[in-house]
Amino acid sequence: MSSKYNIPRGTFDILPEESYKWQYVTEIFRKIADYYNYREIVTPIFEVEELFERSVGDSTDIVQKEMYRFKDRKGRLLALRPEGTAPVVRSFVENNLDKKDNSSKLYYLGPMFRYDRPQKGRYRQFYQYGIENIGSNDPYIDAEVIAVGYDFLKKLGLKNFVLEINSIGCKNCTKIYDNALVNYFTPFLDSLCPDCKTRIRKNPKRLLDCKVPGCKKITQNAPSMLDYLDEECKQEFEQVQNYLNILEIPYKINPRIVRGLDYYNKTAFEYINNDLGAQDALLGGGRYDGLIEQFGGRDIPGVGFAGGFERLIFSMENENLSFGKQQTPDVFFVTLGEEAKKAGISLIAKVRKAEVSAENAPDKESLKAQMKAADKSKAKFSLILGQDELSQKKIILKNMENGQQELIEIDKFIEVIKKNIK
Ligand code: AMP
Repeated sequence: MSSKYNIPRGTFDILPEESYKWQYVTEIFRKIADYYNYREIVTPIFEVEELFERSVGDSTDIVQKEMYRFKDRKGRLLALRPEGTAPVVRSFVENNLDKKDNSSKLYYLGPMFRYDRPQKGRYRQFYQYGIENIGSNDPYIDAEVIAVGYDFLKKLGLKNFVLEINSIGCKNCTKIYDNALVNYFTPFLDSLCPDCKTRIRKNPKRLLDCKVPGCKKITQNAPSMLDYLDEECKQEFEQVQNYLNILEIPYKINPRIVRGLDYYNKTAFEYINNDLGAQDALLGGGRYDGLIEQFGGRDIPGVGFAGGFERLIFSMENENLSFGKQQTPDVFFVTLGEEAKKAGISLIAKVRKAEVSAENAPDKESLKAQMKAADKSKAKFSLILGQDELSQKKIILKNMENGQQELIEIDKFIEVIKKNIK
């Protein structure tokens, strides 16, 4: 068929043949979040634009180039959320979650929007899972947040990933480090890409993140953040590492991880999968002390991560991992003749109420056409009801895998099916 309308660039449909994979990874994520006592929070898909400008940062690519902005009918400036942390923190402050029980460990799931150049692993609408742990600056919490990500990836069976960690220091360290970077990059100013020429003024650390080959080469000998950490940040980073060792989570220190958003400080980390090609970050996160206060809340710290489901599913496919079973009906009703059709309709309603998944083909008449439909549906059993069976108050149960048939009492058929599909 040729559709009159096409899907917008950079977006995709999750088709029935794929949706069970998404259900599977979502279910596992919820389970892991539950083991760590995180609760779900759901925020709107759009927020006031300023929320992201002020927190993610107005010099970042996300805000400058990638945000979907629009005005509503009253002229309010809104944006489709490009990420999940700012909305969660906004809700945390707005709803005084610091005063409510079990409300400081939060997880979210849902679509995010960034107007970026689409490619494999990068979309304009993509789906993230994420957690936020608000209220503690104990370095153990950094390690625990990292552990949630680790346990999730491991539970899915993934092997080809590495954890890279860094500390980008606090405000004080950043000031000194930024100066060092400006001093280092200034002699190369003419060779930097136009974005980096702006970054050097606004947020020099982000030069380290630039993917333009010329800039990448220049950054190779740039000073390392780790040499500029003050005593407190250094110690905290060491403690995070100690806890990761205790938790037996392998990691690599990568002083180049800066994270693209302005609100990050201290611990920054990414899980990388090199098989993914250019878009190799499976999930990333870090600390954002100061953000809660910036949004009008108390001066309490926070740490979290977010990951994309698309790259996760690619990684699982690359490693030939299982997504559980695709959903198929337990039973398929085949009926012959008008009277049996009516009786079948009453029975199918009963089995569904008994929590058995059931299907039929009311628009097909012949046995052959209905059995073909039963085959195509991949139902585990078919239930065949003709005039003869009806008059005996019986129904034929056919095992679709081995073809075996038995005649069972209509009165007891739900019981028998339940036993068989267990
Ligand atoms: P970020 O907020 O950019 O650190 O992104 C966190 C995670 O979300 C990344 O590690 C990816 O898995 C995923 N992600 C970010 N941007 C995109 C995108 N445009 N398309 C698909 N996944 C993305």
